[in-house]
Amino acid sequence: MDKKENCGLFGIFGDPEAVRKTYFGLYSLQHRGQESAGIASSNGETIAVYAAMGTVQRVFRVGSDVLEKLANPVAIGHVRYSTTGSSKLVNSQPFFVEYSRGQCAIAHNGNLINAGLLHDEYEAYGSIFKSTTDTEIIAHLLAKPTHVAKPDPLGHVLNHLQGAYCLLFLFPDRIEAARDPYGIRPLCIGQTSAGAYVVASETCALDAIDAKFVREVEPGEIVTLDKRGISSRFFVQPGTIKPAHCLFEHIYFAKQNSTIFGENVHEFRKKLGRRLAIEHPVEADVVVPIPDSGTSAAIGFAEQSGIPFDMGMIRSHYIGRTFISPDQKMREVDVKIKLAPIREVVNGKRIVVVDDSIVRGTTTKGKIKAFRDAGAKEIHMRVSCPPIRFPCFYGVDFPTKEELIANNRTLEQIRDFLSVETLGYMSLDGLLSCAALPPDHYCTACWIGKYRIPVDTAVAKFALEHYQLRMFENAQ
Ligand code: SF4
Repeated sequence: MDKKENCGLFGIFGDPEAVRKTYFGLYSLQHRGQESAGIASSNGETIAVYAAMGTVQRVFRVGSDVLEKLANPVAIGHVRYSTTGSSKLVNSQPFFVEYSRGQCAIAHNGNLINAGLLHDEYEAYGSIFKSTTDTEIIAHLLAKPTHVAKPDPLGHVLNHLQGAYCLLFLFPDRIEAARDPYGIRPLCIGQTSAGAYVVASETCALDAIDAKFVREVEPGEIVTLDKRGISSRFFVQPGTIKPAHCLFEHIYFAKQNSTIFGENVHEFRKKLGRRLAIEHPVEADVVVPIPDSGTSAAIGFAEQSGIPFDMGMIRSHYIGRTFISPDQKMREVDVKIKLAPIREVVNGKRIVVVDDSIVRGTTTKGKIKAFRDAGAKEIHMRVSCPPIRFPCFYGVDFPTKEELIANNRTLEQIRDFLSVETLGYMSLDGLLSCAALPPDHYCTACWIGKYRIPVDTAVAKFALEHYQLRMFENAQ
């Protein structure tokens, strides 16, 4: 897999086990980012923060007393993949600041497309930045005296941001959870059996701590978790902006047991597989998924086509999601160790290989070769989303347009590159027909290049670092 992940958020208010539950919540969101993890907690008066590089298990390893030191009844947590700013300790989150109104810790999932402009503006007025992420810019906006003086400083600040963001703000006495007006990334609210409120990127994190799903945070909404329970306000007029939910969350990012944008991820992917079998039928002996992200769609394909499903490739769960490794060489080694074909399943067979997407094409080619080396007689590749032709500016770290295999190649050229007998991509209409909401409620920019939030002022992943790279070279 050569696309990358965004981040995962978790927060809980008023639970004696808040920090431990945040740890478990982050654990269940680990698929959303493995570069760093962090927790910030509050005792009602002050905030404590710990964040470090690595997976949740590594950062909060058994035997260390970090969780005990953080133990407080209110906590937020973050797992990170670097969609803006490189993979460094200084960029790990929650991001902690002390300003005129006291302490605040911020956790962010998404990407601000006007981060470069805001950064320039604030730096010109004397702001000093200590990280290279767009999240720090939000802290500077929050601290600006004219913003602090507003009746709702946070709502005012959020109106300055453009792009995709789900944000958790931990103040000593409350958590504020906000979602951008387009609802690009998922964010939900849950409640424990003891009544404590929880916010999380995906419902799988609620399941992990036995919290029940209450509802999604609405696009353009700020939900406050404090000692009175939850309360809500909107920083844009509700319903004035049509949502643009990221369909890639459904296709690939989110966990199969999560429900996002009103629909279970596994069921959605099975629908994609069934539709794919209708759009691109083929005679074959066995349907095999690229695990794990292609598995649900492959089950749907097998159901619809009547071709038996089998596990033709096995995934090692002792190595992380490949695309999360930040450099190409590491990713290639990861793939070899991680995904191994089962010769007994594919040898001498006509196989249908189902995957969720093809990005650069190099890792897919490697998997196809592995099937061929294991004796597959014919390989028919089926992809449960349309060809990705455009970059994402909303928090998914696809490569540049030029690196995308479908950018300037025909279907036949891609088929030839992959060395498969046939290749079939899901149509965009087919994809949208599987979704629960009307088509105009989803972002489809990476397939058709129409960006719902204009990106002419967009920042590239490392844009902020043009200013700061030298400063942070030795930061770790
Ligand atoms: S461009 Fe693609 S990956 Fe990015 S938010 Fe839109 S649908 Fe998701």
